[in-house]
Amino acid sequence: MGCRYCVWKGWLRMLPAIFSAGLIASGCGNPGLSAGSSLNSQSRAGILGTVLTISSYGDTPQSVYDECFSAAQDVENLMSLNRPDSELSRLNQSGELSVSGQTYALVQKALEYSRLSEGAFDVTVGAVMQRWRIGADFIRLPPREEIQGALLLVGSEKIKMEQNNRIALEKGMLIDLGGIAKGYACDIAAQALRERGVQRAILDYGGNIYALGEKADGEKWRVGIRNPVLGADGYICVYEASDQAVVTSGGYERNFEQGGVTYHHILDPKTGYPAQSSLLSATIISKLSADADALSTACFVMGLERGAELLESLDGFEGIFVTDAKEIFFTSGLGGALELIDSSFSIFEVSQ
Ligand code: ADP
Ligand code: MG
Repeated sequence: MGCRYCVWKGWLRMLPAIFSAGLIASGCGNPGLSAGSSLNSQSRAGILGTVLTISSYGDTPQSVYDECFSAAQDVENLMSLNRPDSELSRLNQSGELSVSGQTYALVQKALEYSRLSEGAFDVTVGAVMQRWRIGADFIRLPPREEIQGALLLVGSEKIKMEQNNRIALEKGMLIDLGGIAKGYACDIAAQALRERGVQRAILDYGGNIYALGEKADGEKWRVGIRNPVLGADGYICVYEASDQAVVTSGGYERNFEQGGVTYHHILDPKTGYPAQSSLLSATIISKLSADADALSTACFVMGLERGAELLESLDGFEGIFVTDAKEIFFTSGLGGALELIDSSFSIFEVSQ
C-alpha cells in the first residue's frame, strides 16, 4: 500500500491526445472572467473572511448586486466564527441552541458529508481548529498535548439534532462551518441572482466559483484551476462550466511555515494536524456549491485514492485532483470538458 501506483494500477488511463496546451486567451485573472467584454464585476470583502465577486452583464441593476451581497452577508451573520454574536458562535458558547432553519439544514448536510467521507470532513474539528489559530490568523503550532486534548471533542456523531431546530453539543465541542459555509453563501447569492432574473453571471467567492447559465455568446464559462504548487501562480487547466459550482480546497491557500515545515488550514480530524497526502488540491464540480465545498475539503483530507473512489460512488459530482508530482487526475464524467493549459503537468483520467 506504500506505493500509490500499486493501488492505482488498472485504474488509470492516460489520455494525452485529448488535451492541448496554450488555448486560453486570458493572461491573468480567472479565465472565466475574460470571456465577455461587457461583463461588470463588483466585489465585497469581509463576508466569511474573504471576497465575493459577482460578474454579470451590463444591464444588471446595482440593487441586484446589493441584494446578493446582502444575502451572503446574512450567512456570515449566522455562521461566522469571527463574530461573537453569530448564531454559530452562540451555539458554541452555550452548547445548545434553537437555530435558524438555514443553519440547522447546513449542519445536517455537514453531518451527511461526515458520514460519506468517514469522518474526513467533520465540522466538530472546531475545537482543534481553535488551537491552531489566534483570532483570524493562522500562525500557531499548538503543543501536541493540546491537540490530543482537543481531539477528544471531535466527532460529528456526538452532535444532537433535536426538534424545533435545536442543536446540542457535548461540553467543549465547537462547530466550525468554515469548510462548507462559503459554498452555501455562494449558492444563496446565485439563487438571489436567478430570482431577480439574472441568467448569466459568474461568482467567485474566494476560490469557490459558481457559473450561472452561459456567457453572453452562449458558450460555457471557462473556469481556471489554479496552480497549487506553493509560490506558483496561474492556472493549470480549464473547466467549461454552466449552472455548476467549481470549488477547490488546497493547502496552498492558507498556511504558515515553522521549522522548515509548512502547516495549512485543512485538518485531518483523526490526527488534529494538517491533512497530508500527495494532493496539493482537490476541486469538485457539482450543481450546488455547498456540496462541492464540503466534498472538496473531504477529498483533500482523504487523498487521491479514497477521494476519487468516493466521488465515483456519488451521482452528480466530478473531481480534479492535483498531486505533488505535477499530475492532474480527473473523474470519468469530465471527459472533454477539461483543457490542460500548463504542459508541465501530466493529466490522467480516473477509471474504474
Ligand atoms: P477554504 O475555506 O480555504 O476554501 P475549505 O473549504 O477546505 O478551504 O475549508 C477549510 C476550512 O474548513 C478551515 O479553515 C476550517 O474552518 C474548516 N476545516 C478544516 N479542516 C476541516 C475538516 N477536516 N472538516 C471540516 N471542516 C474543516
Ligand atoms: Mg470546503
